[in-house]
Amino acid sequence: MSDEDVRIQEPSFRESVDIMFNRAVALMNMAPGLEEKIRVCNATYTVRFGVRVRGGIQTFTGYRSVHSEHMEPVKGGIRYALSVNQNEVEALAALMTYKCALVEVPYGGSKGGLCIDPREWDDQEMELITRRFAYELIKRDMINPAQNVPAPDMGTGEREMAWIADQYKRMNTTDINGNACVTGKPPNAGGIAGRVEATGRGVQYALREFFRHPDGVAAAGLSGSLRGKHVIVQGLGNVGFHAAKFLQDEDGCVITGIIERDGALFSPDGLDVEAVRSWIIKHDGITGYPDASHQADGAALLEQDCDILIPAALEGVIHLGNADRIKAPLIIEAANGPITAGADEVLSSKGTVIIPDMYANAGGVTVSYFEWVKNLSHIRFGRMQRRQEEGRHQLIVDELERLSADSGIGWTLSPDFKERYLRGAGELELVRSGLDDTMRTAYQAMHKVWRERDDVRDLRTAAYLVAIERVAASYRAKGL
Ligand code: NAD
Repeated sequence: MSDEDVRIQEPSFRESVDIMFNRAVALMNMAPGLEEKIRVCNATYTVRFGVRVRGGIQTFTGYRSVHSEHMEPVKGGIRYALSVNQNEVEALAALMTYKCALVEVPYGGSKGGLCIDPREWDDQEMELITRRFAYELIKRDMINPAQNVPAPDMGTGEREMAWIADQYKRMNTTDINGNACVTGKPPNAGGIAGRVEATGRGVQYALREFFRHPDGVAAAGLSGSLRGKHVIVQGLGNVGFHAAKFLQDEDGCVITGIIERDGALFSPDGLDVEAVRSWIIKHDGITGYPDASHQADGAALLEQDCDILIPAALEGVIHLGNADRIKAPLIIEAANGPITAGADEVLSSKGTVIIPDMYANAGGVTVSYFEWVKNLSHIRFGRMQRRQEEGRHQLIVDELERLSADSGIGWTLSPDFKERYLRGAGELELVRSGLDDTMRTAYQAMHKVWRERDDVRDLRTAAYLVAIERVAASYRAKGL
């Protein structure tokens, strides 16, 4: 049987999410009615709209799905890809509900998508199409600062978010909170420092926290710290690029493999992530990159020896057809749903530790939450306290230096310490601090369930248990 035949036998992404949900719920004592209420998607809106482009009318199909409104607004990215469909959007919306609950971000789950290949359209056309899609959603309150707040996902970024925010403000000219209708905007259009890097940064913080727990590291058959670990990344887009870059530059990881649409690069001594990214931008792919070996069958590199595998492109890339050949002892799901339910079984039974998507890529929604709060408070984080904090630190430094001089001890503070201690936290430092705290706290909740309950065999089940229990508690407290 070919890999493709095996894949056809697998459940869809939507069914995979439900299988994983059901596996967790089986370990809980939950009324069946409530279980069903949490599992199902509340609503999915399909829109077909026409845009006048290239001398004719082109019809596009888009979706916005709301999984759970136990907290509002609901939140989730908008994806632009030809493969977008209702099933996928609903699976992603469900994941958003659980993700927000796990990282204690006060939102319900939602997701949107447009069937389009953004590379086929120029900037002006993309703006027309995005504004029209946004118009269709805004007029039905499916984009609204109090009800439904999208963000970037595959194929969208700051540019699309800026157009959406502007479209909302044109249609709601007196809404003073208009900027909060969407997150992931550019910093000069209501965005927040650190949003672009946030999901990749969250992957880095997740791995750092994982390596702070030796029992978890040992369960993966690894030891020591992140330093020197060999890493393979699939997808050098927003998430994959930032995760790989930070792990290489700040944690001493060796990025041995990068898999992209047009094949994979491999170098046992490590690839220069920045250089590969620049090459991709310039040449529209990795083909021809000089300092590494290139293989046309990119996905085959998922099966290469490494310590940490980071699928950061799209769903379903590790499936029943290749799961038993995956050698990495630790996989962190930077993408949403990269491992099918069937592959998850295979990997778990051979002891592979999987840091699940719902946790691993929650950095994006976490910093989106900070951006939304910033938009509603109409003030940049750190603006009120930064200089005051610096003044108080200066007082201590002055006093230490006076004591040292007066007592004749002659101690001096190192210039590096003084420089770092005296600098008050700006928005970027505060965002990173809030993200780090979120990733640590959420991991600890998951880890505790994983290590302490005999009936919980993996981190994914633990993550679902923590998340579902929180959503259920919210329904119980507030009613349906
Ligand atoms: P992106 O469009 O910036 O990057 C995706 C990358 O994957 C691109 O470089 C693309 O060329 C590559 N790619 C596409 N198909 C591939 C294939 N078959 N093999 C190898 N590489 C391939 O998207 P992104 O925003 O980085 O999102 C990636 C994943 O992370 C998605 O699953 C998304 O849902 C998830 N995610 C993103 C965010 C975010 O903040 N952007 C947040 C949470 C989760």
